[in-house]
Amino acid sequence: MAALPLVRAGLRVLMLERGDWIRRGEHNRSWSLRWNEREAYDPDSAFLAEGESRGPVGMLHCVGGASVFFGGVGLRFRERDFEGDPNVSGDVRWCLGYGDLAAYYDEAERLLGVTGDGHDDVTSPPRTRPLPPPALPLSPTSAALADAARRIGLNPFRLPMALNGDDTSGRARCTACDTCDGFPCAIGAKNDVSTVVLPALLAGGLALRPNMVVSRLVARGARVVEAQCVERDTGAARRFRGKQFVLAAGALATPHILLSSGLAARNPAGDMVGRHLMRHCNGVVVGAAPAPWGDPADFRKQIGLHDFYFGDSEAEGPAGKLGGIQQLRATRIALAMAPLPAGVRQALGSMLGRLVGLIVMAEDQPRPENRVVLDPRRSDGYGGPAALVQHRHSPRDRQARRALARRAVQILREMGAAFSIVLPVRTFSHAMGTVRMGEDPRRFPVAPDGRFRGLENLWIADASAFPTAGAVNPSLTISANALRVATGIVAGWSAARPSHPRLELERVGGTGQRAGASARWTRPSARRPGAPDTLGASSARQRPGASDAPAERPDR
Ligand SMILES: Cc1cc2nc3c(=O)[nH]c(=O)nc-3n(C[C@H](O)[C@H](O)[C@H](O)COP(=O)(O)OP(=O)(O)OC[C@H]3O[C@@H](n4cnc5c(N)ncnc54)[C@H](O)[C@@H]3O)c2cc1C
Ligand code: SF4
Repeated sequence: MAALPLVRAGLRVLMLERGDWIRRGEHNRSWSLRWNEREAYDPDSAFLAEGESRGPVGMLHCVGGASVFFGGVGLRFRERDFEGDPNVSGDVRWCLGYGDLAAYYDEAERLLGVTGDGHDDVTSPPRTRPLPPPALPLSPTSAALADAARRIGLNPFRLPMALNGDDTSGRARCTACDTCDGFPCAIGAKNDVSTVVLPALLAGGLALRPNMVVSRLVARGARVVEAQCVERDTGAARRFRGKQFVLAAGALATPHILLSSGLAARNPAGDMVGRHLMRHCNGVVVGAAPAPWGDPADFRKQIGLHDFYFGDSEAEGPAGKLGGIQQLRATRIALAMAPLPAGVRQALGSMLGRLVGLIVMAEDQPRPENRVVLDPRRSDGYGGPAALVQHRHSPRDRQARRALARRAVQILREMGAAFSIVLPVRTFSHAMGTVRMGEDPRRFPVAPDGRFRGLENLWIADASAFPTAGAVNPSLTISANALRVATGIVAGWSAARPSHPRLELERVGGTGQRAGASARWTRPSARRPGAPDTLGASSARQRPGASDAPAERPDR
C-alpha cells in the first residue's frame, strides 16, 4: 500500500517480495489441505515460537501478503483506540489522533472496496461519507444471530467487508463461498492487495520482484544504501540500491530484518526493536445446536458486536477496554487449528452443520518481554540467523478474552446453542507492534512520520509500527498508516527538489528499461538460468547468503 503514493508521484519504485503470485483456481477451495500444505505457506520458516505457542510459526509469503488470505473485514480503529487505555497499555498511546488518519482511511476503504453499514456500531468513529451498501445480502444465519443479540439488548452491526459485489467492475462477483477466511479467493472476488491494488501499480510503473528474499539492509553513515537479497528459486545473491527504503515485511519479519542487519544499534531506542509484540488475545467460541443450524452454505461473516469494546460493567472481567465479537465463517479452520485431542476434534468435525462460531478479539497488552529476537543457533536459510518469537499473553489479556467469551456464549445460547466451547487462537495472524512508533526517541524506534530513528532514509510502513493494538482487525489501519507515511515521503522529496517536475527514485541494476508499464514482470521460475530478467540483471546461480553478486549500477 505504501508504494501507491510513491508510484502516483512518479517516483521509480521497486518492490521486493519474498513470495510468488498466488495461482487462482478451484484448488484454492480445497478444505482437504492442511494449513501448512497451502500454497504460499513457507515451510522453511525462519521463525520458531516459544512461550504460549510453540514450534515453527507459519508464514504466508505471497504477492499481496497476508491480505490474500484475510477474512475481508475492513474496520477502522475507534477514536479512543488512538488514546490508549491505561488499563491495557499504561501511558502508551498513539502519537497520531484519529483525525490524522481519517482521510487515509477513506482512501484505504476506497482502494480495498470496503462496503457495509456502520450505523448500528455503537463505537464507530465519525466519517465523511457512508460506505457503499454491503456486497452480499444478510444471510438467514446472520439474521438469526443479529436477532438473538438484539433480544438480549445488544447492538449487532454489519461488518464492513472488502468483497466485490460490483457487477460493473469487470471482476468476478463474490459468490459467498465457503472458503474465504484463510484461503485466497479462487475467483479473485476478494479485494486483497494483489487483486485490487497491485495491478494498477504495475500498470503505473511499479517494478516488482517476487521470490526475492531481503536478507539484510546495509547502512553507511546515516543512510541505508542497499538491500541484500537472495532469489528464492535460484539461490542467487542480489543487491539493490536506492535512495529511500520502505520496510513493510510484517511485524515478525520487519524486526528480524532490522536485527539481522545490525540496524537496531543505530537507533536511540534500539533495545526496543523486536519488543512489544502483540497479536490480540483471540478466541473462537463454537456453539452446537441440537439440529443443523440453518443452511451450512450460508455466508457467516457478516455480524459484529462492539457493545463491550470499552468494557463491560455488568460482567466479571478486567477494568477497562475489552474488545469485539464477530461472526466467524471458518469454524472448520478453528477446529483444525485448535489444541484439542484428536477424538474431540473429530467428533466436532462430524457435526459441522450444527456448529456456529463467533470470534472474540480482545486488545492485548504491549509488553517488552513479548518479542522477536535473533536465534544464533539456527540459520534463516538465507545467510543470516533465524528468529525466535517469544510470546505469552498476560493474565489481563486472558481475562479480557474470557469476559468477551462469556458474552459470546450468552449470544449463542440465545440463538439456540445447547452447549459451547471456547478455543484460544494461537496464531500470529494479527501480529503487531515490534518496532513501535511514538514521540519519545528513547522508547519508540519509529518517529511519528514513520522514519526509523537513527537513519535518514528508512521507513516502517506495516503493523510493526503499532504502539497499541486496538481491538479490531488491523489491515485497514495498516493500510491507512502506510498511505500516510508514503505521502510524507513524497512531500519531503518534493520539498527538497522544488524544480523537479517528476520525482525519481533510483533503482539499481538494469538495462534502463522500466519494468511494469504493462505489468511486465516475469516469474523467475519461468526464466531460463542466465537469461536476463525484467530488470536486466543476470540470474547466475549462487549460494544463499553469498554477497559476491556484481554490484548493480544505478540506472540514471
Ligand atoms: C487467515 C487470516 C485472516 C485475516 N483476516 C483479517 C481480516 O478479516 N481483517 C483484517 O483487517 N485483518 C485480517 N488479517 C490480518 C491481516 O491480514 C494482517 O494484519 C496484515 O496483512 C498485515 O499486514 P503487514 O503489511 O503488516 O504484513 P503482511 O501482510 O504480512 O505483508 C508483509 C509482506 O512482506 C513479505 N516479506 C516478509 N519477509 C520478507 C523478506 N525477508 N523479503 C521480502 N519480502 C518479505 C511477505 O511475504 C508479505 O508479502 C488476517 C490474517 C490472516 C492470516
Ligand atoms: S467468492 Fe467471495 S466469499 Fe468466496 S473467497 Fe471469494 S470473496 Fe471470499
